[in-house]
Amino acid sequence: MAVQRTFSIIKPDATKRNLTGAIAAKFEEAGLRIIASKRIHLTKAQAGVFYAVHKERPFYDELCEFMASEPIVVQVLEGEDAIAKNREVMGATNPAEAAEGTIRKEFALSIGENSVHGSDGEDTAKEEIAYFFSGLELVG
Ligand code: ADP
Ligand code: MG
Repeated sequence: MAVQRTFSIIKPDATKRNLTGAIAAKFEEAGLRIIASKRIHLTKAQAGVFYAVHKERPFYDELCEFMASEPIVVQVLEGEDAIAKNREVMGATNPAEAAEGTIRKEFALSIGENSVHGSDGEDTAKEEIAYFFSGLELVG
C-alpha cells in the first residue's frame, strides 16, 4: 500500500473540551504524521460548502451550525494507507457503534458531535485538503 494523505478535522465538541492534543496523539500512535495543522473558526456558510454532499440530509442545518459553533483544528495526515487507517482510528460515525480504543468511542458525545472528521476516499481527500490548505502549507 502506498503512502497517502488524508484530511482531518478535530471538531468543535473536542476543541471545546481541550482534547486537541489527546486526539493528535491517537493519530501519531497509529503511525500517521501530522504534516499540516491549523486552528480556525468556520462560518456557517463555509461549513455548508464543506458538507455540501449532505445538504439533502435532515441533519444538515444542525451539522453546519455545530461546525461553526467553536473553533476547529484542520489537519493533513500522511502515512501508509492513511485514508483507511484514519477511518479506523476514528471509529464508527455513531460512538455507540465505535470499536474500543477509537477516538469516537473514547471522546465523542453523540452521532452529531463525534469529535473528528476524516476523508472517505482519495478524491475527497484531495478536494478537502485543497479547500483548507495551500501546497506551501503541506510540509511532509
Ligand atoms: P462520517 O463523519 O463518519 O464520515 P457521515 O459522512 O455520514 O459520517 O456524516 C457526516 C457528519 O454528519 C457526521 O460525522 C456527524 O457529525 C453528522 N451526522 C451523521 N449522521 C447524523 C445523524 N443521524 N444525526 C446528526 N448528525 C449526523
Ligand atoms: Mg463522511
